[in-house]
Amino acid sequence: MAAPPTALTIAGSDSGGGAGIQADLKTFLGCGVHGMSAITAVTVQNSIGVSGFYELPPHAVAEQIESVVTDIGVGAAKTGMLASAAIMEAVADAVRRLGVTPLVVDPVAASQHGDPLLRPDAIDALRTQIIPLATLVTPNVGEVRLLTGVEMRGPQDVLEGAQRLHALGAAWVLVKGGHRPGPEATDLLYDGSRTFEFTAPRQATEHTHGSGDTLAAAICAALARGNDVPEAVRLGKAYVTQAVISSYPLGSGLGPVGHFWRIRAWPPESKS
Ligand code: PLP
Repeated sequence: MAAPPTALTIAGSDSGGGAGIQADLKTFLGCGVHGMSAITAVTVQNSIGVSGFYELPPHAVAEQIESVVTDIGVGAAKTGMLASAAIMEAVADAVRRLGVTPLVVDPVAASQHGDPLLRPDAIDALRTQIIPLATLVTPNVGEVRLLTGVEMRGPQDVLEGAQRLHALGAAWVLVKGGHRPGPEATDLLYDGSRTFEFTAPRQATEHTHGSGDTLAAAICAALARGNDVPEAVRLGKAYVTQAVISSYPLGSGLGPVGHFWRIRAWPPESKS
């Protein structure tokens, strides 16, 4: 069998298995790429929330990146939870030094429960160290507000938020509409001059844990497979839409998006 394209996630572990590294690796498999991971932090997490996290030393994160880039090669990479300014500096240095590109930056700041996944000192490093390296940055409306101060009340605010993030140095910006009210979720993609809209019907489920990670990982996989950014976003949206449709309850809190829809029945005689 020929080697598939390769993708690297630089992100945190979710002990509940729904988001973070675990969601990214499932997505990479579902999207037909070989997934690799540089773990930044280990969260203590279940369906009810994140009760804490433990960071790795910044040099340990950089060494993981260097190890896979110099041997296996990285077709595309994504960042998720980067936890602290020191880890961001180490990641930014490794990404620049090793020429890791294309890079999808999911500017993760908090979980859906509102639990922090970033130290307060890290917001500025996200703005100044990581976003300038992004081929694509994928904020939700809360992350746009956190990073630019722009409140998302209408379409003009969405464009202004995208323009401010582009001005920070991201080549492309995808402002996700999932957290804005309405029957449809519309995402806006912007490259400094062109805009593209992606609309999907809103799914009636609260079990969307890991949806942001899954979208960014699916876009990353599509880039690793050689697609351009607008096509990778279209493919990533299609993947996460199916994952949200396939989400399931777990524990007593918020369940995860589902990746089983990409898996053929196994064992072969079973139906699901
Ligand atoms: N835990 C980790 C390690 C994550 O990376 C993320 C999101 O990026 C989350 C939790 C939060 O996921 P959600 O906002 O979908 O609950």
